[in-house]
Amino acid sequence: MQQKLSIYNTLTRKKEVFEPLHAPHVGMYVCGPTVYGDGHLGHARPAITFDLLFRYLTHLGYKVRYVRNITDVGHLENDADEGEDKIEKKARLEQLEPMEIVQYYTNRYHKAMEALNVLPPSIEPRASGHIIEQIGAIKKILESGYAYESNGSVYFDVEKYNKDYDYGILSHRNIEEMLNTTRDLDGQEEKRSKVDFALWKKATPEHIMRWPSPWSDGFPGWHIECSSMSIKYLGNEFDIHGGGLDLMFPHHECEIAQNTAIEKHRVVKYWMHNNMITVNGQKMGKSLGNFITLDEFFTGSHEMLTQEYSPMTIRFFILQAHYRSTVDFSNEALQAAEKGLERLMDSYNRIKKIPISDTSCALDIKGLRQKCYDAMNDDLNSAVVIAHLCEAGTAINSACAGNITLTKEDKEELENIFDTFFFDIMGIRNVEETTGGNMDAFGKAIDMLLDIRQKAKENKDWATSDHIRNELAKAGFEIKDGKDGAEWKLK
Ligand code: ZN
Repeated sequence: MQQKLSIYNTLTRKKEVFEPLHAPHVGMYVCGPTVYGDGHLGHARPAITFDLLFRYLTHLGYKVRYVRNITDVGHLENDADEGEDKIEKKARLEQLEPMEIVQYYTNRYHKAMEALNVLPPSIEPRASGHIIEQIGAIKKILESGYAYESNGSVYFDVEKYNKDYDYGILSHRNIEEMLNTTRDLDGQEEKRSKVDFALWKKATPEHIMRWPSPWSDGFPGWHIECSSMSIKYLGNEFDIHGGGLDLMFPHHECEIAQNTAIEKHRVVKYWMHNNMITVNGQKMGKSLGNFITLDEFFTGSHEMLTQEYSPMTIRFFILQAHYRSTVDFSNEALQAAEKGLERLMDSYNRIKKIPISDTSCALDIKGLRQKCYDAMNDDLNSAVVIAHLCEAGTAINSACAGNITLTKEDKEELENIFDTFFFDIMGIRNVEETTGGNMDAFGKAIDMLLDIRQKAKENKDWATSDHIRNELAKAGFEIKDGKDGAEWKLK
């Protein structure tokens, strides 16, 4: 690998040079969604962040096994050990089978991810399909002495574990602080300490999602699925575990404790967390009315939205910030992202029109590629990559206007930089991709339609001319009439 990638490890709180355990293979696990509702911006950010990492590692030549799970059981309300299962609750409200809810929202999640050009992971395991593995993991934790059975449920013994290891190593919390700040909840009498967390819960009679186990008919706790499935598919030592910052505690902290209790050593080498998205400075939340689903963004159908935003605008908006900084959503910010994306796309499309010269300009175009790599190598700084691409865009525009000259090699290099960083690594969808790579035939067909429209206009056949324009608009084309005829582009 010629490029030296550094990533920020949340566990050590340092930027570290990325050295995989078994190069060229890389194992990467990211916590996926709990599928009981439509995806929102908060889902888009980890998906896009780790898609960027997946794409970049692949670009560098690593063979990445990317596991992203689907949580379809055991995630209780308020991320606590009590309350209704989020999926079961939705199923009850909708009068559906829980697995119908899971399938419905998994399909919708996939559709949204595809629209955002997020590559599918190598393996997408579901918690409900790994009950045997989870029971096996719980047995091992019981054997190690860091868990206890209580009334048919099994809990992790945090205080005992903390005597031998360090509970709070990831989130930098200490147990006294946790004991002081954790509320006493009803129905937690089964636990020895209020900081303990459930590995297995005995199901109440009305609970539908239940499986037999040595302890009771019940269901696994939320955290054990990720320990079980990551170790199953990536081994008991693997490279990267990612997720949103909101998962760092308790979910990932509990995962580390479970992993250590099972394997007696550190399982994950690098922990990575993307920061959160706020809406007009506020945390997103259903009760705050600022909870906007991805579909609502794509169609503009939420009262807070002044227009619709394309999936690529959302993707570009997220990549405009470094993944560890917060991003604040507002219509103004998204509109700025939309314009920025359009400008870069226009610059790229103009490369072919630059007249070739024998003399290169003073701009260091070759240096630009390494600058983009340097930004990616610096903990995936996509914000800086975009700034460099904007520099490239400015050079293209100046060359088109005749202010600077570019050689054939300069042009090829510029095109190449865009292909590599804009499309392959940052995953911005090229129009050619959406037309099956056959842009020429596609473009000719649209030009022909515009030609027919032009003739209709000349014959004052307004019905035909309007019809073509309206149908093209419906199909997603923007038509602009200029003095040299009509121009089109995909909206
Ligand atoms: Zn997880």
